[in-house]
Amino acid sequence: MAFPALGLAPAILRALLEEGYEKPTPIQAQAIGPVMEGKDLLGCAQTGTGKTAAFALPILHRLSSAPVDKTRRGGAIPRVLVLAPTRELANQIGESFATYGRHTGLVHTCVFGGVSQMRQVKALQRGVDVLVATPGRLIDLMEQRLVNLSGVGIFVLDEADRMLDMGFIQPIRRIAAALPTTPARQTLLFSATMPREIMHLADSLLKNPVKIAVTPVASAAPLIEQSLYMVPRMKKALLLRILLRDEGMSRVVVFTKTKHGADKLCKHLVTAGVSAVAIHGNKAQNQRDRALDAFRIGRTRILVATDVAARGLDVDAVSHVVNYDLPVEPEAYVHRIGRTGRAGATGQAISFCGEDERDQLRRIERLTAKRIDITPLPPVPEDLLTFAEESSVREPRQAPHSSHPGRSASRGGGYAARSSEHAPRQGHAPRAEHHTRAAPGEAGSTTAAPRSEPRGDGSARTSHAPKPSRAGGPPAGFGKKRMKRRY
Ligand code: AMP
Repeated sequence: MAFPALGLAPAILRALLEEGYEKPTPIQAQAIGPVMEGKDLLGCAQTGTGKTAAFALPILHRLSSAPVDKTRRGGAIPRVLVLAPTRELANQIGESFATYGRHTGLVHTCVFGGVSQMRQVKALQRGVDVLVATPGRLIDLMEQRLVNLSGVGIFVLDEADRMLDMGFIQPIRRIAAALPTTPARQTLLFSATMPREIMHLADSLLKNPVKIAVTPVASAAPLIEQSLYMVPRMKKALLLRILLRDEGMSRVVVFTKTKHGADKLCKHLVTAGVSAVAIHGNKAQNQRDRALDAFRIGRTRILVATDVAARGLDVDAVSHVVNYDLPVEPEAYVHRIGRTGRAGATGQAISFCGEDERDQLRRIERLTAKRIDITPLPPVPEDLLTFAEESSVREPRQAPHSSHPGRSASRGGGYAARSSEHAPRQGHAPRAEHHTRAAPGEAGSTTAAPRSEPRGDGSARTSHAPKPSRAGGPPAGFGKKRMKRRY
């Protein structure tokens, strides 16, 4: 089926042609018709399936064919309200409305926290057709009576499960209560997973919805190759640096559990000469935008992110997702790896499982009904052996068969934590790593001119090479014990 067969307005078809969209994705093929007819919809789909266009296209069609009340004075009041969990997702949805609606003359705006509300209020006063909002800022504006929701005829909840996780359920109910009720209002709810609370929310907000599920809940996309390293927590930074020597890792999203962890790792990579930026909830909006832009246009190779900040990220051609820390909620694993392998491209998802993360791994594998094969740890290149040693604690016993004669046996490293996990020690600052893409002087990137690090034996290019250096244990530099999946 092609787009014209769905009956979309010519102005929208023109924009799709310009975007190079040839045919609807499965969710678009199923959702566009019912939404154009004004039906409520419950969509089980994750980011990457084309779900934004699945609701934006029929909404634009309905708006462009519905007459506007010209008797009202003042700016247009929103006819559509889209709620999204994060500022990034709200921005992306707004951009989609702008792209697909560029020939319709319809206006949208986004409101979200973390920035001054002044410009947002001005945009609302000028008048908008589509309002995309995060719940917190919208409630703020409602309390100040700066937004009029009485004209909302279409209400969209995007990534409802994430909004639930973020504690937005009460704000959503409050916002919904301020909108016209059915049948004057059409409601669409999208969620990647359908836990019981979402079903309750859907029951209370939707009326006889059309139900669509495009990707089986919590199943990982088949175009994503998944691999797993069992690696002591202290050695994760080392492993990441080794893997990043693979030129194929051209655009990488690295997930950490905490904001502090994201900052620390980003700093470590930058110090080591790898261009990286971090995004998380503690960063100001303009910093997040800058970081994301740098990553999008390829000026920065690595984006270190926490789950919330990365939710809904739509960056083309992400070559790899690295789960530096395994997510606490297994569903987040599916969301995370969905950042790669998008729109038909293949992607790679690499997970690091520390000694304290086996339970999380087990839950992920149970949820996705897939056992991820363990990849043996790669050999540590000569020039990273010093760093390998630094990221260890005292080795309790001599490593009997080091593959690097002449080097201290303590290079193997132990398993206990040391406070400066990522921070290179004074006087041992690692030099710029292979493939630095940072523009000198750019925020979040190294200021050092990119240059390759000398590689004694050429082994630095090795990335996923499954070659443990001594029988029965991991390669030198990774500790002595081979970590196993134990459950
Ligand atoms: P989404 O799931 O909405 O985040 O969309 C994922 C990506 O797919 C976005 O980059 C869209 O631009 C792209 N996309 C959406 N619909 C289509 C389509 N019909 N053909 C090609 N690309 C699409």
